[in-house]
Amino acid sequence: MLKFQYKYMNQNKKRILTGDTPSGRLHIGHYVGTLENRVKLQHEYDTFILLANVHAFANDYRKSEEINKNVYEVYLDNLAVGIDPEVSTIYLESGIPETLELYSYFMTMVTHARAIRNPSVKDEINYKKLDPSMGFICYPILQAADILGFNADLVPVGEDQLPVIEQTREIARDFNKAYGETFVIPSAKVGRVARLIGTDGKLKMSKSGENAILLSDDEETLKKKIHACYTDPSRIHATDPGKVEENPIFEYHKAFNPNKDEVTDLENRYRLGKVGDKEVKEKLFVAMNNFLVPIREKRKFYEDRPEIAKEILIESTKRARKVVIEIVEKVREQMNINKLIK
Ligand code: ATP
Ligand code: MG
Repeated sequence: MLKFQYKYMNQNKKRILTGDTPSGRLHIGHYVGTLENRVKLQHEYDTFILLANVHAFANDYRKSEEINKNVYEVYLDNLAVGIDPEVSTIYLESGIPETLELYSYFMTMVTHARAIRNPSVKDEINYKKLDPSMGFICYPILQAADILGFNADLVPVGEDQLPVIEQTREIARDFNKAYGETFVIPSAKVGRVARLIGTDGKLKMSKSGENAILLSDDEETLKKKIHACYTDPSRIHATDPGKVEENPIFEYHKAFNPNKDEVTDLENRYRLGKVGDKEVKEKLFVAMNNFLVPIREKRKFYEDRPEIAKEILIESTKRARKVVIEIVEKVREQMNINKLIK
């Protein structure tokens, strides 16, 4: 039986904090937007990955069971793409209640006008057609607590999250100004594809959009999704010149097909009306499937060993909490909030 052992304790590295809302399994947009950077940078930075279950309640507070299920799926997805639990710390947000203390201090620092002006929040309310809870409107403030609670230097995210990181930076600056240097001002790091298009041609592939190719999709599902994928709607016959830009099948070829000559050849022929969608899709299926095979295998490894997966999560959450407790203690001292009961 494998014994889980964390290797990097007490190393004086810069920190990464990043994570995902467990609103569904992770997709290939997450991969190019943020997961790839997490995997690449995990040895260089002390990396903390948040399973944002408290955030998930902001979508619908009644969905506890579904959220728990999705937490586990998102956890497996992170391990499947190569997050090494002996190197990175992957933890459950609700396991660190001190984050919520920080959240309540930060809530007093952000005006109502500033909160509702956040473009990430506005966009999401629109495309998810939400009647947003207060928790949803304030989710960037909770995210600021997640990030600043670790004094993270770097936050790997997709482009849609940039306004949220900007709000985190504002909170850190305002706090430092009021109470002295406490927080590091974190920077965002966007992945090699800032915002991967959805299979329906919508600007963003999204867990809640039913326009996603999942990292855990099996071959059959992948084939079906690629077959049904939106292409260039103005192209009726294979002999019509087609548009490659903002065409999901070509965006995916560019992002996941390592055979660059094949991609250039398909693009050229598509523009000239010399290749059908069928060939482009068949070749995309081969490339995407090759990309997903090792991810599926690694996922299966952990799926088959739930006791190890659980042990890792418990130990990692404890370790992450220690870091946050220290920082929140410093915040209390800076604010002198407990002066009268000391
Ligand atoms: P939801 O629809 O529930 O908001 P989501 O698909 O947007 O789900 P999140 O958990 O909100 O996923 O995002 C996790 C991380 O993945 C964030 O850093 C986000 O910017 C990034 N991300 C999400 N979708 C994409 C995408 N299509 N392209 C690039 N990055 C993405
Ligand atoms: Mg999102």
